[in-house]
Amino acid sequence: MSSQTHEFKAEVAALLNLVTNSLYTNSEIFLRELVSNAADALDKARYQALVDSEFAGKELEPHILITIDKQAETLRIEDTGIGMTREEATQNLGTIAHSGTLNYLQEVQRARAAGEVTEASELSLIGQFGVGFYSSFMIADEVVVNTLSGKPGSEAVVWRSKGDGSYEIEPGQRQTRGTSIELKLKSDAKEFLDRWRVEGLIKRYSNYVMHPIRLRVIDE
Ligand code: ADP
Ligand code: MG
Repeated sequence: MSSQTHEFKAEVAALLNLVTNSLYTNSEIFLRELVSNAADALDKARYQALVDSEFAGKELEPHILITIDKQAETLRIEDTGIGMTREEATQNLGTIAHSGTLNYLQEVQRARAAGEVTEASELSLIGQFGVGFYSSFMIADEVVVNTLSGKPGSEAVVWRSKGDGSYEIEPGQRQTRGTSIELKLKSDAKEFLDRWRVEGLIKRYSNYVMHPIRLRVIDE
């Protein structure tokens, strides 16, 4: 299996254009979206472990680890959840899965047709609807996903994109079931390297999450 470049579907490309070209006041919701995806993945893993006796990684402790790397200027959100196969990564991260995102695009189209829309109002809609995984591109100029599915026989994969219309998929190195999302922060999003800023967001947005969330800071 080699590296492959794929074009995003038109609707994703349209969304990414909106999202990547601006750093706006609601950009902090990316953390809520990624932590909620990690929590979903942990719930799915718990269920899968019950119904599939071959499911890998049953010994793993369910948790979410957030790592701030000040030197590399990255923020990583990692879980010991269900992980993704190559097909799942292509399907789930290359198309719009999040229902809020489709509602968002519909609302933008409606507002445009009605002549109501400004760039600011389009962007404030993102905060209301949430755009799921793609919110990452509000604060990152590259997103790298390392994942390993618990399905028997799965191979690790890496998904990466600069949010510029295409993404790449290649074989990965991940050894344990789960997913890590690494965000290479934009130059104007370095506030998310600050421990207290990130801790505040976890408290504000992810209080309801039932799984342990740990925060680690390296290269301080
Ligand atoms: P939603 O969470 O509403 O389905 P998202 O855009 O947030 O939409 O995520 C898209 C899809 O990508 C999810 O439905 C899931 O299948 C997959 N995904 C995202 N993050 C993870 C993760 N940490 N582990 C496993 N799958 C994930
Ligand atoms: Mg989501």
